[in-house]
Amino acid sequence: MKDTSQRDKPNQFVYKGKLYKNVSRYKVVGLTGSRNECPTCDELFNSIRAFEAHRVGQIGVDRRCLGVEGMLAKGMAKNAAGFWVSIPYKEWE
Ligand SMILES: [Zn+2]
Repeated sequence: MKDTSQRDKPNQFVYKGKLYKNVSRYKVVGLTGSRNECPTCDELFNSIRAFEAHRVGQIGVDRRCLGVEGMLAKGMAKNAAGFWVSIPYKEWE
């Protein structure tokens, strides 16, 4: 007997106030280039560097994600698209 009810995990998430079902989050959010999403805390990052910046502690010992407050304290910020950047853009002109 086949019972697939245990196997089918709900594949849905909320992004910008809208509920998405059975669609790749990557497609909706538009992860391109080095943009990435942390599989642990679900935050979105504009670069690998920003992602690395929010991971603290020693691998295999106490590796963990910085929370939002920790990231802000570190000088990180979210850009207009909702991705964390390691160094907020300053006015260059
Ligand atoms: Zn994380």
